[in-house]
Amino acid sequence: MHTAPRDLGRPPRLPRGALRITPLGGIGEIGRNMTVFEQAGRLIVVDCGVLFPEDHQPGVDVILPDFASITDRLDDIEAIVLTHGHEDHIGGVPYLLKHRPDIPLIGSELTLAFIAEKLKEHGIKPVLKRVEATDKYSAGPFDLEFIAVNHSIPDGLAVVIRTAAGTVLHTGDFRMDQFPLDGRLTDLRAFGRIGEEGLDLLLVDSTNAEVPGFSISESDLNPAIDQVFASTPGRVIVSSFASHVHRIQQVLDASHARGRKVAFVGRSMVRNMRIARELGYLTVPRGLVIDYKKTRGMAPEQVTLICTGSQGEPMAALSRMANESHEVRVSEGDTVLLASSLIPGNENAIYGIINKLTDLGANVVHKGNARVHVSGHASAGELVYCYNILKPRNVMPVHGEPKHLHANGALAERTGVDPDRVLITRDGVVVDLVDGTARIVGQVQADLVFVDGQTVGHATEDTLAERRQLSAGGVLTVLVLLKPGTTELAEPPEYLHRGFVQSPESLEAATAALKKALATASERGVTEGEDLEKLLANAVGRSLARTSRREPVVIALVIDA
Ligand SMILES: [Zn+2]
Repeated sequence: MHTAPRDLGRPPRLPRGALRITPLGGIGEIGRNMTVFEQAGRLIVVDCGVLFPEDHQPGVDVILPDFASITDRLDDIEAIVLTHGHEDHIGGVPYLLKHRPDIPLIGSELTLAFIAEKLKEHGIKPVLKRVEATDKYSAGPFDLEFIAVNHSIPDGLAVVIRTAAGTVLHTGDFRMDQFPLDGRLTDLRAFGRIGEEGLDLLLVDSTNAEVPGFSISESDLNPAIDQVFASTPGRVIVSSFASHVHRIQQVLDASHARGRKVAFVGRSMVRNMRIARELGYLTVPRGLVIDYKKTRGMAPEQVTLICTGSQGEPMAALSRMANESHEVRVSEGDTVLLASSLIPGNENAIYGIINKLTDLGANVVHKGNARVHVSGHASAGELVYCYNILKPRNVMPVHGEPKHLHANGALAERTGVDPDRVLITRDGVVVDLVDGTARIVGQVQADLVFVDGQTVGHATEDTLAERRQLSAGGVLTVLVLLKPGTTELAEPPEYLHRGFVQSPESLEAATAALKKALATASERGVTEGEDLEKLLANAVGRSLARTSRREPVVIALVIDA
């Protein structure tokens, strides 16, 4: 395996006829997938997703790929190819289209329907190019071909990109379920054809590369799911991704078979299921789905609720139910079914919710205690098959944390791919495909871009460090009243604080430190303004760290008496 070194410089000019591949997200993390391909001065983007924040990123709504390296080249973008409708593949599109709304979006019917609905909320009318499996599409110097892949959302596509520099296959997210609910298999015959034709570079989903063997089939979940519906005396409350059409179909079927009515709870769930139903991806028996309000007067054993929040997102319906701040009150006899995977980083939030729901009397069924979920990503066994069928000359594992990328790279090597041609990269690392050989040639900016309320990219790592400090130490403001034109205290300093626990001794010590700092400031000629305030805040902060072993955010305000 060849791992990208840390200290890469800017990439050189792209050699004539070469293809440049720059991942801007999804490598080194699970989420915000985005890859930029460049050939002959033109660009094509594959996916543009979001990453969900972790506990150490308080106040962040979502994290975007960094568009900095392409914002001055927006007119060169031929299209954005969307492999499927998951948020971590389409969620960033509105933010990119804000820079140039008429970049064509290429994707399958369901994928485009999901993104179009999302763009409507952002007031953007997109240019949509609908394709389906086996379709070919030319976008400037890129000849695209789409291949059906099976995943945890219907209508997934892998994309073949043929250019003068060679043939690339980007799998998107995929697995090889041989008994999928919709009968739509990953098209291994097309993979075989590409392998015969000669594949220069494979970008391949790494999410489950560490999981040995083969993933079980969606169909194999039916007995466990049905068991939940058969044995629950109260309501069944199912939490799932709002895009997990197949799992929701299973829940609808099981509910129907057990004489329950179903209501969707939560805006994104209601919206996506309406779209999936309209387009025929969800089959709903007449009268099965009713409005949530109608369920309130019904016997609990006749009710199924389907909501979002399976990743413990604090604002989603399930978290609010667990915190008793949602109109759905969970109670004894209810079963909560978490029909979802556990995305790394969300564990604490999810376990917290499971405990709260259990405390409320619910029976919580999840993948840890029943066979109610299967991942949408290929396990090691499936990946090995792909390598053997595709016989890629160069491999670039994508979609995963470093451990997933390395595990995937090791599988490629085991199937005989030249270890020098297995490239372990990270976001921003630039790979050039020249004469059939892929090489790491440099790197571009690929920071985490935080969406925070109405702002994009304004909150920085420093902002988050401050928030973490606030959450651990609180805030202390010291009001310093000085005799006019001097650095002498007119009155003892006044301390105002929130979330900081003080002792009289520590504040006394802080006052002493403050007086000393005022003397030092006067010696140095710092007698007013922000410089003085910063100096005083630092002195008080250091003193409190010593005496109280706490580091509140300290703000000093100097006022002339
Ligand atoms: Zn996906």
